[in-house]
Amino acid sequence: MRRVDPRRWKLWSLSLPVLTYIAVVEVAATLVVVATARLTPVEVLSWTWFGMLAIGSVVHLEAARGIERIREIATEGSPYADMKSVWFFAGVLVLPIPLLVALISITFAHAWFRVYGRRALLYRKLFSACTVILACAVGKSVFLAIAPTFLDGPRGLIAVLVSGFLYWLVNYALVVGAIIMTNLDKPRRAAFGHPSDQLIIAASIGLGCGLALIMTSHPWLSPLLLVTVLALHMGLLLPQFRMAARTDAKTGLVDATFWHEVAARELVRARRISSTLGILILDLDHFKQINDTYGHLAGDKVLRVVADTIKSVVRTYDMVGRFGGEEFAVLLPGVTTDEARTTAERIRFEISSLSVAVTDRSGVERRITNFTASIGAAVFPDTAGELSPLLLAADEALYQAKDGGRDRTEIAAI
Ligand code: GH3
Ligand code: MG
Ligand code: MG
Repeated sequence: MRRVDPRRWKLWSLSLPVLTYIAVVEVAATLVVVATARLTPVEVLSWTWFGMLAIGSVVHLEAARGIERIREIATEGSPYADMKSVWFFAGVLVLPIPLLVALISITFAHAWFRVYGRRALLYRKLFSACTVILACAVGKSVFLAIAPTFLDGPRGLIAVLVSGFLYWLVNYALVVGAIIMTNLDKPRRAAFGHPSDQLIIAASIGLGCGLALIMTSHPWLSPLLLVTVLALHMGLLLPQFRMAARTDAKTGLVDATFWHEVAARELVRARRISSTLGILILDLDHFKQINDTYGHLAGDKVLRVVADTIKSVVRTYDMVGRFGGEEFAVLLPGVTTDEARTTAERIRFEISSLSVAVTDRSGVERRITNFTASIGAAVFPDTAGELSPLLLAADEALYQAKDGGRDRTEIAAI
């Protein structure tokens, strides 16, 4: 396994205040876990509810797996809204804290292995899990303080409202705080995300409350709500997400979602006509240094120039997309593995020959040269027969290129 050497963790590239912030949140979450562990001998009924919520959460994620991976990439730099809160907030209302913690751990571990994998940074996911633990603990304590049992009447309403609001607030504030601290050079507005995302969370909290009520009063009817959540997620949320901007404003390339859709269509076509489909994933090497040395605006300019360069190297019907950050993906219909490699090498050559004029932070005109990039390539049907494994293979190859010393192309193992 790679990436296990703690000295190479991305975590250490963070500034001291950010590291401290993360540590404080994680220690606080650990304290909650330890302090509430004595509540562990749990009644049988709670275990049943726990099982139902865990199954719901796992089935939910499995059903939405493909698109969640793309969303995760596309929402880099702003809070990431999903509907996990349905399960978590139902848990807040019916589970004791140790089982809540177990539910959160299972959900995040499952998502790590099935969705985020090596694409996300482990410390970030750990941090997110900790913010959820804290949010749930606050929500739970407040709920118990106002209404020790599931109450009807105005008091019950207030208990759920206040608990739901604080659950949301703690989570949101901690995540926004972390994003602002790690992206000091970006506009703050981005860190708050789009308000509609918060509506999704509010709706999830409401559904969670409904689920908790049904589970406790009519448990056999709970699957109805599970299906409802899935239907909403797949039917409303995903199409809405797909409709969102198709081009990336910074580079003019198509965005990750649209690229993914076209890739899926191209794959169907390639299969139908017994052709091939090459995929390249490109990541600029040490791009952070460019931002650090010349400023973020210069970095943006480089991204634009690199985007144009990649486009100029490939054929007009090869689609170039921005996958997020300084990461690009290229779709190469009909190429062999050798042609994919040649194209990748040509792209690398053109990028390495670039000389980009920028204005640095002190207003001085500078030229940046010596760019390098790492590329991972995979080809249908040689590498894999479906899009998801194909992308994963290209991604894996990209990591091999990085691990091998960057500035190279790796072809996915067959
Ligand atoms: P590696 O060789 O491992 O890829 O190193 P790296 O520095 O390129 O990789 P890392 O993923 O650590 O950093 C990517 C950087 O890209 C971090 C961020 O500052 C920068 N970045 C991401 N999106 C943008 C953007 O839209 N504009 C600018 N200017 N920089 C961006
Ligand atoms: Mg990157
Ligand atoms: Mg990079």
